[in-house]
Amino acid sequence: MPFRRAVYPGSFDPAHYGHIDIVTRAARAFDEVYVAVYDRPAKKLLFDFKERVLMLEMALKDLPNVKVASYGGLTVDYAKKIEAFAIIRGLRVFSDFELEFRMALANRRLAPEIEVVTFIADERHLHISSSTVREIASLGGDVSSMCPPFVVEALAAKFHEHKQSGEERDYVISLGD
Ligand code: ADP
Repeated sequence: MPFRRAVYPGSFDPAHYGHIDIVTRAARAFDEVYVAVYDRPAKKLLFDFKERVLMLEMALKDLPNVKVASYGGLTVDYAKKIEAFAIIRGLRVFSDFELEFRMALANRRLAPEIEVVTFIADERHLHISSSTVREIASLGGDVSSMCPPFVVEALAAKFHEHKQSGEERDYVISLGD
C-alpha cells in the first residue's frame, strides 16, 4: 500500500473532544494526518490563529502520526501541496450532511484526485460544536466535559479579558436567551 496522508481542515475555534475523536479515528486509518487550521475563516473568531494551533498541538501530542499545520486559501490547493490522498471531515447530525455533501462535490470538481472521507462522530460528542462551547463558556457554564482542561482554562481567560475590556458578546447564539 502506498503511504497515505490525509488533511483534516477546520477553524477549531476552539478544539474540543468531537474534533479530537475524529483525528484519532483518522490517525488509525491513514499513515499521516495533518490537522490544518484555517487561518482566517469567514466567521468571527474567538481565538487567534496561534492560540488555535497551540491548543490543537497540546490536545494531539500523543498521536505520533498527527501534525498540526495551518493554511489559507482553498483547502484543495493545500491538500495538493502536501500531497494528501484525502480530506477528512466529521459528521455529527443530518444537518451537517447537506453542507458537507455540497462541499465535497465542489472540492471534487476542483480536485478530482483528492477523496473526501467523513468519519461519524462518537455519540457522546454529537452535541458538541465550537460555537456551543464558546457560548456556554461565555455565560460561565461548565465545558469540562466537552474540551480538554487547557482549552477550558483558555476560554475562561479569554472571557475574563473580554469582560475587563467591555467587549461585546456577539458570538453568543441561543443558550442565554
Ligand atoms: P469548519 O469551520 O470547517 O466547520 P470546525 O472547526 O467547526 O471547522 O470543524 C471541523 C470539522 O470537524 C468539520 O468537519 C466538522 O463537521 C467536524 N466536527 C465538529 N464538531 C464535531 C463533533 N462534535 N464530532 C465530530 N466532528 C465534528
